[in-house]
Amino acid sequence: MIRFEQVTKRYPDGTTAVDGLSFEVAEGELVTLVGPSGCGKTTTMMMVNRLIEPTSGRVLVDGEDIARVDPVRLRRRIGYVIQQVGLFPHRTILDNTATVPTLVGWKRAKARARAAELLDLVGLDPKTFGPRYPDQLSGGQRQRVGVARALAADPPVLLMDEPFGAVDPVTRDQLQDEFLRMQAAVRKTVLLVTHDIEEAVRLGDRIAVYGQGRIEQYDTPGAVLGTP
Ligand code: ADP
Ligand code: ADP
Repeated sequence: MIRFEQVTKRYPDGTTAVDGLSFEVAEGELVTLVGPSGCGKTTTMMMVNRLIEPTSGRVLVDGEDIARVDPVRLRRRIGYVIQQVGLFPHRTILDNTATVPTLVGWKRAKARARAAELLDLVGLDPKTFGPRYPDQLSGGQRQRVGVARALAADPPVLLMDEPFGAVDPVTRDQLQDEFLRMQAAVRKTVLLVTHDIEEAVRLGDRIAVYGQGRIEQYDTPGAVLGTP
């Protein structure tokens, strides 16, 4: 589903962020990318939606070399959730959630109905929360809206960069549980970046353990934990 073939990213200042990376994520699989700050996780993820272009190598999504896919269209097939979810402050939660379906041309009523479904899926009652504005929600609730928005147009691929990084530990546990329940229902192909090995092990079907610019281990949670 997502395949990296000998991918290297060198930034103009000479930093090699990712060095000859090859790995594959199966359809419906959730892979966590874990490692210390600066080891290349975000660079890896952003090469999937072409916010960053590789210096060499190829990235394939669904067997297709993404260098040949229009980047704007590609990004709309890929949901993206970051730590600081940028919600539009002057739009309601329902309209924020309906952003992407509306952008890709869905009729307004259909986009809003879909947005309500997704809010429900992430544990926010659409009747209560739909009409509110972002500043009337807690951080954890806003993070859920970010997930709902990313999924609203039903992209097959979901990219998540430290999605639970900005909330307190109790809320984080709760969001992780809800996310796992949701993922069991929708089965997206997910890449999730975290610096927290516990989170990586808890959420990942497989875990990519990063060293500097490379994946040092790519295996199931059990195998990663079993390593001396
Ligand atoms: P992580 O997500 O693991 O923290 P990043 O992918 O953000 O790592 O960064 C990997 C390396 O690339 C780091 O050394 C970082 O400083 C460097 N880097 C990231 N973005 C840029 C950039 N735009 N220009 C130059 N170096 C960058
Ligand atoms: P515009 O073309 O109006 O600037 P954007 O394409 O930048 O709109 O998207 C508007 C908002 O929707 C942004 O905050 C962006 O982060 C978010 N967004 C866009 N595409 C996606 C997507 N595929 N998944 C999740 N959020 C998205």
